[in-house]
Amino acid sequence: MDKKRIAIVGAGFGGLSAAHDLVKAGHQVTIFENAPTPGGLAAGFKEPGWDWSAEKFYHHWFTSDAHMFKLFSELGVESKVMIQSPKTVMFYKGNFYPFDSIISALLYPGLGFGINKIRFGLVGLYLRLTKNWKPMEKTTVEKWMRKWAGDKVYTQMWEPMVIGKFGERYARQVNMAWMWARLHVRSTKLVTYQGGFQAFADDFAAKLQTMGVDICYNTPVEKILTEKGRQVSLWTNAGDEKFDRVLVTLSPAQMAKMTPQLPENYLKGLLELRSLGAVVLTISLNHPLSREGYYWYNLPKSAGFPFLALVEHTNFLPKEHFGNENLIYCGDYLETDHEYFRLTKEELLERFLPSLKRINPDFELDWVNRAWLTKANYAQPVPLINHSENIPAIQTPLNGVYFASMSQVYPWDRGTNFAVDIARKAASLILEAIEK
Ligand SMILES: Cc1cc2nc3c(=O)[nH]c(=O)nc-3n(C[C@H](O)[C@H](O)[C@H](O)COP(=O)(O)OP(=O)(O)OC[C@H]3O[C@@H](n4cnc5c(N)ncnc54)[C@H](O)[C@@H]3O)c2cc1C
Repeated sequence: MDKKRIAIVGAGFGGLSAAHDLVKAGHQVTIFENAPTPGGLAAGFKEPGWDWSAEKFYHHWFTSDAHMFKLFSELGVESKVMIQSPKTVMFYKGNFYPFDSIISALLYPGLGFGINKIRFGLVGLYLRLTKNWKPMEKTTVEKWMRKWAGDKVYTQMWEPMVIGKFGERYARQVNMAWMWARLHVRSTKLVTYQGGFQAFADDFAAKLQTMGVDICYNTPVEKILTEKGRQVSLWTNAGDEKFDRVLVTLSPAQMAKMTPQLPENYLKGLLELRSLGAVVLTISLNHPLSREGYYWYNLPKSAGFPFLALVEHTNFLPKEHFGNENLIYCGDYLETDHEYFRLTKEELLERFLPSLKRINPDFELDWVNRAWLTKANYAQPVPLINHSENIPAIQTPLNGVYFASMSQVYPWDRGTNFAVDIARKAASLILEAIEK
């Protein structure tokens, strides 16, 4: 077989997965990664005295994440995979109610009694059973849910979720196929890896290196130059290198910037895709926040919390792994011009901490040991009406240049499971093209 030189831009879960398949097929693979470690958005950090790392952004898998489980088995790391059942709750009028099964959702008081509960249950069941998502992308979550589940179910259950996730600007524009994908497959049991997601990324990268993959950390790719024939040049801070194929796993905006020579149509398609960023504070406390041991709090925007996501990591994983510190995440998905992107850690703490008293009235500021701030500009793609028509092809019109990102995993919502899937699809397209 003709051995090709293949470059991958990005050592997130996508880039690592594509490298696995390409090196296994006998090619010479080099990954270029901007950061000093693998893992991308799912990467973690470890403080002195911790034997596990915590994710910079809260992360878990679902038992329904089949692409991840297949990968665990191929890598022989199943024994390190941990399945947990942490508590998920929904806020309603100052109290929290269990929200981790259809039964508990049916008992949630926000729906009142009678017909709304029946409509909620039937719609939930339908979305769980039907595979026919395509017609749903022609309408919005709001229109579909108001029609089939009713105004009360929509405003109580689903509107808070879409506003929280996509903000006021996009909440009414997100298509129903996105909601279908979330409700269709997700399990209530949650999954992690011994040592955290970073430990998985490290094990994966180490395995790739033993298979012959060259991983260049601290090496951002600046430009991709394409020449006649199939040679592609990558410009990095270490110089210029030639490859036969290149797969980019960054955001559409970064892809457009790196390859401005793309034909106008494809470039326009990349630039028209909408997405949100994320701002997350990880806060270490010397007391548990939740008296009841809650892990995941669903907080409707209307409840007036200054963040959307509240996650108590050490109610998912034992705090002994984190030097007995209690770790919580407070975060939000936001447009990148939102003021939270400009605020310092101290300023965000000032905004966020007072509201923790609403979770536990005993909370005091002196519970806070320290905090870490993480921001990402590209964190959550926004699927608008008929989104399937706007997804850029993995094989770009440029010879030898491929693109696989969170914006292309639709109808699925972004997640490492789908990053693995789309990158492996890209790898198989590259292999097909080489064999032609
Ligand atoms: C707040 C939040 C919570 C999440 N929760 C979950 C969850 O619970 N479960 C789950 O499965 N998923 C979750 N996700 C989504 C998940 O993190 C992503 O879907 C997944 O990590 C995307 O992987 P990727 O490889 O496609 O991209 P990325 O992880 O973004 O990888 C791209 C890589 O490219 C690198 N890079 C950037 N620029 C350059 C350059 N110029 N040159 C070279 N390298 C470059 C980056 O450093 C990065 O390592 C969450 C995401 C966020 C933001």
